[in-house]
Amino acid sequence: MITVTPIPILSDNYAWLLRDEESGCLAVVDPADPAPVAAAIDAAGGKLDMILLTHHHGDHVAGTDEIRARYGAQVVGARADRHRLPKLDREVWEGSEVDLGASTARVYETPGHTRGHISFYFPDGGVLLCGDTLFSLGCGRLLEGTAAEMFNSLMKFAALPGATLVCCGHEYTESNARFALHADPENLDLHAYAERVKELRAMGLPTLPSKLSDELECNPFLRAGDVATLADLRARKDKF
Ligand code: ZN
Ligand code: FE
Repeated sequence: MITVTPIPILSDNYAWLLRDEESGCLAVVDPADPAPVAAAIDAAGGKLDMILLTHHHGDHVAGTDEIRARYGAQVVGARADRHRLPKLDREVWEGSEVDLGASTARVYETPGHTRGHISFYFPDGGVLLCGDTLFSLGCGRLLEGTAAEMFNSLMKFAALPGATLVCCGHEYTESNARFALHADPENLDLHAYAERVKELRAMGLPTLPSKLSDELECNPFLRAGDVATLADLRARKDKF
């Protein structure tokens, strides 16, 4: 089974360290800043098997070549974006399976934020690496995709088990909470969740991973119900 640890990098990004408990195999997701990522890998034993990339933006992939050279890990990313990702050792797409030791991730194509955005889901451990598609209490900006694409991407996540750990690319939760409370002021679960988020941030702790069941109760973008509602929410959030 997979266990997961956030590595805070840059101003508000997370790289994620994944460990398959049976084999001890390690992977890192979106290692944009090599120094803190290498420190986390070294602290976990210093042997890296795999680098998983969610999408091509610099704040997710910038450190990839350096980490790959240092540890000799295999780089896995979307075939659709191979022309603008770092050099890939393995290209994947919807339905691809990626083994890390005794655990296997399923690849989902999750466009909306970028055309070639993918997410990785490890059923064993219930870990979802969703990059900039889903954030806690928010979703990614529609930089290259439509609201319909983002809606379909979010619905893939909504179908996963409620206990799934949602591992996002950014610590945006506290500011997302302000818009979520504005958009859905009567939601008592959201009020309670926003309080917990405030306490965690006041202690300097990550709010991630979050639980999918909490997102399903509190995240207005995941609760949108149809494409038009999601499009309206996204447009309002962009101006908020
Ligand atoms: Zn991005
Ligand atoms: Fe990002």
